[in-house]
Amino acid sequence: MRAQPKASHYINGRYVEDEQGAVIDVLYPATGETIARVHSATENIVELAMEAARSAQPAWARLKPVERGRILRRAAELVLARNDDLARLETLNTGKALQETLVADAPSAAEALEFFGGAVASFTGEQVDLGQSFGYTRREPLGVCVGIGAWNYPIQIAGWKAAPALAMGNAMVFKPSELTPLTALALAEIFTEAGLPDGLFNVVQGLGNVGATLVTHPATAKVSLTGSVETGRKVQALAGGKMKHATMELGGKSPLIVFDDADVKNAVGGALLANFYSTGQICSNGTRVFVQKGIYEHFLDDLTRRTKAIRLGDPLDPETHLGPLISRAQRDKVMGYIAIGQEEGATLHLGGGTPKLQGFEGGYYVEPTIFTEVGDHMRIAREEIFGPVMSVLTFEEEDEVIARANDTEFGLAAGVFTRDLARAHRVIAALDAGTCWINAYNLTPVELPFGGFKQSGIGRENARAALAHYSQLKSVYVEMGDVESPY
Ligand code: NAD
Repeated sequence: MRAQPKASHYINGRYVEDEQGAVIDVLYPATGETIARVHSATENIVELAMEAARSAQPAWARLKPVERGRILRRAAELVLARNDDLARLETLNTGKALQETLVADAPSAAEALEFFGGAVASFTGEQVDLGQSFGYTRREPLGVCVGIGAWNYPIQIAGWKAAPALAMGNAMVFKPSELTPLTALALAEIFTEAGLPDGLFNVVQGLGNVGATLVTHPATAKVSLTGSVETGRKVQALAGGKMKHATMELGGKSPLIVFDDADVKNAVGGALLANFYSTGQICSNGTRVFVQKGIYEHFLDDLTRRTKAIRLGDPLDPETHLGPLISRAQRDKVMGYIAIGQEEGATLHLGGGTPKLQGFEGGYYVEPTIFTEVGDHMRIAREEIFGPVMSVLTFEEEDEVIARANDTEFGLAAGVFTRDLARAHRVIAALDAGTCWINAYNLTPVELPFGGFKQSGIGRENARAALAHYSQLKSVYVEMGDVESPY
């Protein structure tokens, strides 16, 4: 299986190589085989990319928003037309089941391009009445924006950052995760084909050190990171030290609360999506499932039956639900947490093993795992695992569950299942989380802002909120009379 790109980096509208950079092997997580090899960006590559972005940006910003938007919408069409190829590449890159990558990865990037390609034209400043005079505000681009991605949704993350940044008149230098360098390059090619002028979307490869170099580069105006809280703290500090704008999309340990009047079938469906989609590697996952005592048995029976029916296997087989985790290190981390959960006294209700799948012995698979009898203080209920591990907790009262749900340093997401809509809105309003669902989970339409409270992030992606985060306000006072001066 090979997925070798033409070269490691994409700068100024073309592929660029510098073999001086350290080699990064790209593995297919289902088998562990090497499918591509890229080089980390050298200083020379970083400079080329930053210079390309810096010099291309002013002319781009001078275009009318509809003109920029038209190119983004053309890119959206190309992404959708190539969806089958992009999905296959994303599956090879991440190990996620083709069943998912066909509907959730490139299509989500396309949706962002389509949305921001249209929305930017109406994202305008305000006219302000000042009596005799007036003022107005202008939404201006920031300049060169750096995007840094995680490995769970590589092309989606590239699209979610590039689309609002470019729509607003910025240029972007994007560094994918070192584990998943491939699909951002494919997106860059598509931008060029769609007519995006050279230098506006550049991709450079590398580990955290390359990311840090980009963040602190003098030409960088803003950084948008998707990654762990630990990395977010470092990047936020680096950006703050140089007074750069920053958006942080970080990790979570989100609560999903199921009241005893909930539709159990839907609530179980929500809990499964909240824990096992993308083999559990989703930042907004509802990994603390609080179930009210009255329906606990019913909920657990249905959950168990449906979890047992999840098919692990060949990610390229359209019947497969669940692929492997991204890497050996991630599998070891997840298996470590499964051991910790048992040591802490939680009950390993289902799964917990590494399945032996013929032909995929070298893959990083973990069974969908459910812990019951989980205490709030346990590490499996407090720390982000980022794998297919669900903790089921029980509760009795509304106030009690709100307090327990909020007792975390994170605040990315939260969900509530109940048929009582007054309660649904009351509870959601009381939860400290940036992205919430009522009777659903893990849906992230581009029309709604996405992001976290507390340690889970700063700023927002998607919706008009993202355009605000990729722009700066200029206030203009217009004097209609004479200048009143005491001098
Ligand atoms: P990570 O933090 O290890 O890496 C993220 C990116 O940051 C990578 O590209 C990495 O090379 C880069 N990086 C690392 N150190 C850096 C530094 N010092 N300076 C600049 N860049 C640096 O995250 P990961 O393991 O790739 O992804 C998993 C994490 O991402 C999880 O915690 C998950 O919750 C989070 N995540 C959040 C969202 C969201 O939108 N909130 C979405 C997906 C993933």
